[in-house]
Amino acid sequence: MMNCELCEQDGGEVIVKNQQLRVVLIDDANYPGFCRVIWNAHAKEMTDLAIADRSALMQAVCKVEQAVREVMHPDKINLASLGNMVPHLHWHVIPRYLDDAHFPQPIWAASTRASEQLEQKRARLPQLRDVLQSTFK
Ligand SMILES: [Zn+2]
Repeated sequence: MMNCELCEQDGGEVIVKNQQLRVVLIDDANYPGFCRVIWNAHAKEMTDLAIADRSALMQAVCKVEQAVREVMHPDKINLASLGNMVPHLHWHVIPRYLDDAHFPQPIWAASTRASEQLEQKRARLPQLRDVLQSTFK
């Protein structure tokens, strides 16, 4: 596809990459630990994938969710697949906290406060990278 940013770029700091997909860490000041699972080949919707591939993608999303829970200790995980801006299949895995900038709204809403304890959350990122890499070995 022409001009697809997820075909042309990694879309974040690549933590895991295999033949089918990659897991990237997003550099978002308000959301340390925000990961995306990106299907490598250009596909627009889940139903564009073969059933086995859908399953592989969801298994990867769940592995990332588990790692983010273990390391980031969020109050909630948000899983989202929108793709309105970039119609290339990817899942957002977002650790959410009662004191984050948008809670209980989606992170794409207008922020309601400054996120708290960002330093502490950012300090967990090296461990998150390690756990993700070992999860996918
Ligand atoms: Zn693409």
